[in-house]
Amino acid sequence: MKKAADYRKILGMITNEQVLSLEQAAIRIPSSSFKEHELADYLANYMFDMGLEVEMMEVQHPTQPDKKSRQPIGRLKGTGEGPSLMLNGHMDPGVEMSGWTVDPYGAKFEDGWIWGMGAHDDKGGVVAAICAVEAIKRSGTELKGDILLCPVIAHKYGGAGTRALVKKGVLTDYCINMEHSANTIANVCVGIVMIRIKTRSPDLFFRYSAEAKAKYFNAIEQQCEIMRRIGTSLEPLPPGGWLRFTPHPELPGFPTLTFDTIHKEHYYHPSYTGMPTRECEMCFQIRTVPGQTLENIRADVKRLLEQIRADRPNLQYKLTIPASGEDDPWYMEPMDVPKDNPLVVALVDGQRIASNEEPSVGAAMRIGNVGDGNILVALGIPTVQYGPGDIRIYKEWPTPDERVKLDDLVIAAKAVAYASYRMCG
Ligand SMILES: [Zn+2]
Repeated sequence: MKKAADYRKILGMITNEQVLSLEQAAIRIPSSSFKEHELADYLANYMFDMGLEVEMMEVQHPTQPDKKSRQPIGRLKGTGEGPSLMLNGHMDPGVEMSGWTVDPYGAKFEDGWIWGMGAHDDKGGVVAAICAVEAIKRSGTELKGDILLCPVIAHKYGGAGTRALVKKGVLTDYCINMEHSANTIANVCVGIVMIRIKTRSPDLFFRYSAEAKAKYFNAIEQQCEIMRRIGTSLEPLPPGGWLRFTPHPELPGFPTLTFDTIHKEHYYHPSYTGMPTRECEMCFQIRTVPGQTLENIRADVKRLLEQIRADRPNLQYKLTIPASGEDDPWYMEPMDVPKDNPLVVALVDGQRIASNEEPSVGAAMRIGNVGDGNILVALGIPTVQYGPGDIRIYKEWPTPDERVKLDDLVIAAKAVAYASYRMCG
């Protein structure tokens, strides 16, 4: 009974005014990828004033060594007798698009809606998590396990901030990855792998010998043939085709691919530097389903390319998976955390209490998306993706006029406060 009283006390600490004011403050501080420092400082001070242990951590840009940003880690200490929980959400919003009808940094609040860049992706999630921990702290409730508040940088760079936490050994037993899911509990999410294929052909011009021509297969046409055999962007790959997978009931339509880049220089091209290159490079990505491994995907692509070569012996290719090598920031494993995992159960109960509605668990509201949580699940840390913000209100996502309901933010803060206390209390 003591616990029930604690929950009520904690949840009673969360107010609309507190959530709205932090959300508006966060939206008003621009924080695009690797320019999050001002928001990082603001949140660090906020967490320090709450009474958390706060440390600031620098994170280097993955490809530009002179570029860096920073992210705070706030810790609400427990006695060390219980499991620890990370609340992780990214500070960098999407790219600013044209078409906004309000100031993207104005944080307009009208008819219960808060408008602005990152309103729910992912400042809303970060704010809900901070308000949840603030409520626990202010209630004076003792915890057994630590709660770590991790507003991270550079989600848009493949989770560079979260990868930096991992590298530094900042790990917990469980994690809630705050990501807009219309407050549904996403225990299943797709993964992502980028694949690079270079093709090569001998230099051959309009006068050629029959012998040279017999060995020729234009590098661009090689890619055309490869792409034809791989499939069509945004068309689900069929089971039983070249890519092996078991369809996942939560992820209909996946795996799916998109072709992302194709490039070859020639004298017709404005970037032509004097010599046509022999190589044509193409990159595509696959959003994968649980059960697909890097090794299997590598073997599948290789087998397909060898089949093409059996038909067209002049095919010359070089395959790289993941596209940027072993440390590819855009390689993320798919995730599938059992519904009976204590974290899922705790968050379901928290969501039910906070919303007075039956929560929904599953992939539906995160379908096709990856979150930094994918990185943590791959390390064996049970993680769910959860947060306020329903992208079904927009025609497409990403979008201008991003907005979130204050009520949904408050529900998320309460649900996370409940789950955090239940896991760590
Ligand atoms: Zn996000």
